[in-house]
Amino acid sequence: MLNVENLEVNYGMIRAVQNVSFEVKEGEIVTLIGANGAGKSTILRTISGLENAAAGSIVYEGQDLMKLASKDIVSQGISQVPEGRHVFQGLSVRENLEMGAYLRKDRDGIEADLEIVYERFPVLKEREKQDAATLSGGEQQMLAMGRALMAKPRLLLLDEPSMGLAPIFIKEIFRIISDINEQGTTVLLIEQNAKQALQVADRGYVLETGKIVLSGSGEELLNSDQVQKAYLGG
Ligand code: ATP
Repeated sequence: MLNVENLEVNYGMIRAVQNVSFEVKEGEIVTLIGANGAGKSTILRTISGLENAAAGSIVYEGQDLMKLASKDIVSQGISQVPEGRHVFQGLSVRENLEMGAYLRKDRDGIEADLEIVYERFPVLKEREKQDAATLSGGEQQMLAMGRALMAKPRLLLLDEPSMGLAPIFIKEIFRIISDINEQGTTVLLIEQNAKQALQVADRGYVLETGKIVLSGSGEELLNSDQVQKAYLGG
């Protein structure tokens, strides 16, 4: 579904991503794990068209994404939940969700999907009219995920969904990610929380200072000495 090959992204002199190649097959949850500054967010932002690559290719269902503007990438069925959530403050929960569907014209479909999001995240329904800024961190994460789902993505990009959340919310967020995947959405998940990410992922890649150093099934990586030592405190 998504093929990234020999990707290179620089910020001036900083080589944030170097020669990175990976793939995401339809139906999978694939995770990229790595420490702070490893280049994870940069990779996601480049897929979404928010950063420019210096070299390499990003092909989604045979289409070269590097030739498309961000909004056209969303129209192709890719939506991103950014790190730090970035809900629209001053807009209600419902308005935030509607913003997620801004490129869609199927009014009935949008209404139906709003109901599906409310079923998945009942707390958002309860707080439908509330200013998004007043939600807790976990609720804002749910809102950001709900907003991304309103675009009806086939590939969902998640940037550190567990960051800053209480343990009980972290469990819940990963459960929801598995659930969204089981209902047919392919997921590319960026995480520092290696353990939880590898537990839900079909496959994973480990990034260190801009390079992929290891890859395998979620289980293989969970059990690898290198991952245990570097990321799981084992
Ligand atoms: P984190 O989990 O902390 O977000 P990350 O793995 O997502 O880390 P990136 O945010 O992709 O890492 O950053 C990769 C490298 O690029 C880091 O060295 C970072 O300081 C640098 N970097 C990221 N964004 C910029 C920017 N806009 N300008 C300059 N350097 C940047």
